[in-house]
Amino acid sequence: MAQTDADITIIGGGIVGLSVALGLLLAGRRVHVLDGADSDARASQGNFGLVWGQGKGWNFAPYASWTADALAAWPEFARKLSDLSGIDVALDQSGGYEFFTDMDEMDEFADMLAQQQRHLGTRFSHELLTGDELRSQMPGIGRDVVGASFSQRDGHVNPLRVLRALRRAVAAAGGRVSMGAQVDRIAPAHGGGFDLALKDGRSMGAERVVLCAGLGAASLAADLGFITQIRPQRGELLITEKLADRLPFLSSTIRQVDEGGVQIGGTKADAGMDDSETLDVMAGLARHAVTVFPALANVRVVRAWGALRVMSPDGYPVYARSSRHPGACLVTCHSGVTLASLHASVLADWIDETAAAPDLEAFDENRFALSSVA
Ligand SMILES: Cc1cc2nc3c(=O)[nH]c(=O)nc-3n(C[C@H](O)[C@H](O)[C@H](O)COP(=O)(O)OP(=O)(O)OC[C@H]3O[C@@H](n4cnc5c(N)ncnc54)[C@H](O)[C@@H]3O)c2cc1C
Repeated sequence: MAQTDADITIIGGGIVGLSVALGLLLAGRRVHVLDGADSDARASQGNFGLVWGQGKGWNFAPYASWTADALAAWPEFARKLSDLSGIDVALDQSGGYEFFTDMDEMDEFADMLAQQQRHLGTRFSHELLTGDELRSQMPGIGRDVVGASFSQRDGHVNPLRVLRALRRAVAAAGGRVSMGAQVDRIAPAHGGGFDLALKDGRSMGAERVVLCAGLGAASLAADLGFITQIRPQRGELLITEKLADRLPFLSSTIRQVDEGGVQIGGTKADAGMDDSETLDVMAGLARHAVTVFPALANVRVVRAWGALRVMSPDGYPVYARSSRHPGACLVTCHSGVTLASLHASVLADWIDETAAAPDLEAFDENRFALSSVA
C-alpha cells in the first residue's frame, strides 16, 4: 500500500476541499488532496459566485455570525489567492440587492433581516427601499418591482477563477492534488490512521482525513461513522452574451460577471442527481430578469445549465469530528464560495484543535441526532 507523506489527506478537491487544504498548508501542515472523477457532480463549477450575507442565519445565530466573519475575511483571502496564484478572482463587495415583486414576500424577508440584525448588531447592515425609491436611484428598474433590501456587505466573485486560483495556490503552498483519485472505501487502519481504497484499485494510507467530497461524501461519511445525510438540490442558471455596459446593481438572482455576461439564477428544485436544465425554469428565470430590469429583454442568452447544491438536512454547514474514528473530520456546506475565506484560514485551527480554534460546536452533526429523537 502506498504511504502518503502528508499529515492530512483531504478527500474532495472542489472549492471546499481546496480551501481547507490551503488553510492547513498555510498553517504548516503537509496536505494531499484526492479529487474524484470528471463525471462527479461539482457544485464548484456551476455556482452563482455570490459572497453573500443577506438572510443567512436569520434563524440560526451561529451561522449568521460565521457568514459575517466570512464576508469580512474575503478581501484578505482574495489578496492571498492573488499572491499565491497570480489570479485575480474579481472580488467586488460593493453591496447587493434582493428584489421583490410581491409585497408580502418582501415584508417576510424584512422580518428575517431584522432578526439577522439582532443577531449581528453592528456586524450587519441593511436598508429597505420601496419600488419608487429604487427607480429614482436606478432608472432602469421595472415597474413591477415593489421594493428591495440592500446590504452594503454583499458581493460576488468569479467562481471559476476562485477554483483555478485555489488549485494553483495549493500547489504554490506545497500541497499535492491528485486528480482522478476517487476514494471508494475508507477504513481505520490497525495501529492508527486510515486505509483508503481507490476506485481504480490503488490503496493508500492516511494519517488523518478530512472528508470534503460534496455529494460524493455520502457513503464515505457512513464508513467514518458520520450520520449527516447530504442531499442534492438543483439550481438552474442562464448567462447572456457579454454587454459593453455595466448593470447598475448586483442582486442575489441577477449579476453581471466581470467578463461582461449577465448571470441569472436562484432556482431551487429537488430532482435527485439530475442536473439538467429545464425549459420552464429557464423561461421563468428570463421572465424574472426582464421584470426586474426590462432592458435585459433585448439581450441574448448564450448558455444555460443546472448544477446540484450540496445540502445538509437543515441547510447549514457541518463541521464534525468522528467520535468513532478519531482523526477523521467531515466538512460540508452550501455557500462554499462565501465561506471559502474561513475554510482557508481559521478552519485549520479547528481541524488541528489549536487554542485559536473557532467555536464550531453549533455546527456539529449531533444536531441531527437530537432532531431525529425529538
Ligand atoms: C446553482 C448553484 C448556485 C450556487 N451559488 C452559490 C453562491 O452564489 N455563493 C456561494 O457561496 N455558494 C453557492 N453555491 C454553493 C457552492 O457552489 C457549494 O457550496 C460549493 O461548490 C461546494 O463545494 P464542495 O467542494 O463541497 O463540492 P463540489 O464542488 O461538488 O466538489 C466535491 C469534489 O469532491 C470530489 N469527490 C466526490 N466524491 C469523491 C470521492 N469518493 N473521492 C475523491 N473525491 C471525490 C468531486 O470530484 C468534486 O471535485 C451554489 C451552488 C449551486 C449548485
